[in-house]
Amino acid sequence: MARYGLIEAGGTKFVLGLAEGSAAELAANPAAHITARHQIPTETPAETLGAAAVWFRQHGALDGIGIASFGPLCLDRASPEWGHITRTTKPHWSSTDVAGAFAAALDCPVAIDTDVNAAALAEARWGAGKGQATLYLTIGTGIGGGFVGADGRLLHGLSHPEMGHIRMPRHRDDLGFAGVCPFHGDCLEGLAAGPSVTARWGKSLSDLPADHGAADIIAWYLGQAIASFQAVLEPARIVLGGGVMGTPGLLDKVRAEAAKAGGGYFVGNPAEAVVLPALWPDSGLLGALALILGSD
Ligand code: ZN
Repeated sequence: MARYGLIEAGGTKFVLGLAEGSAAELAANPAAHITARHQIPTETPAETLGAAAVWFRQHGALDGIGIASFGPLCLDRASPEWGHITRTTKPHWSSTDVAGAFAAALDCPVAIDTDVNAAALAEARWGAGKGQATLYLTIGTGIGGGFVGADGRLLHGLSHPEMGHIRMPRHRDDLGFAGVCPFHGDCLEGLAAGPSVTARWGKSLSDLPADHGAADIIAWYLGQAIASFQAVLEPARIVLGGGVMGTPGLLDKVRAEAAKAGGGYFVGNPAEAVVLPALWPDSGLLGALALILGSD
């Protein structure tokens, strides 16, 4: 019997949880073994990390803590900055040692990765990509991607991937829009994340009329991006999460655009490979659990 602390650290709220059970129980049906949950607003690091530690201490000693965090994060184990949030635009949080704060407060092993990588790992282990090479993309206020290979491990380079910032071809009816990424303008995130929709059309995709045409343009960009990611990674499953994907009909449009863009060349057929997440609304906490359980 083990007890793990779980954290989904977001820009507006921290979701906390406890997972309790034997290794076999947690591996087989983790959602059934989340025994407590709590939510706190994201204020300053001192306030929020402190309140989280207090909540965990009320539940007794932990065997480890998994943190699925907003980023960017330093994930270089050799660096003194490991486990820190690095250069975020969120006030007060740049250079915050999130992993170190919990290691010190709770005296247990800590595993940390981005919320996107954690969700990718959980979907590959228990959800829509179970046992298969899984690309997870979140399309919300930003766009991020994580990849779990056929070996069940997350892909890392110098840090976590930054798939939302790939360069993009331009839709012919969207040439006048500069994009909203502060670093690149018209990268994938700058053209297809939620803020790009409101910047062009004044409303979110789900609030625009179904025949507006905006969803066709966003689906076209996502289809182009998926074909590029298929070329690099050949995922068996491409899981699309995030608020923008809640737009009715968008998934089918993305599947069709990805199929056109890929030209039938890749192993994965978007009509079957492109899916919605299976673990919502637990994907964040289960991602944190997957991180602390490790890859083996
Ligand atoms: Zn960008």
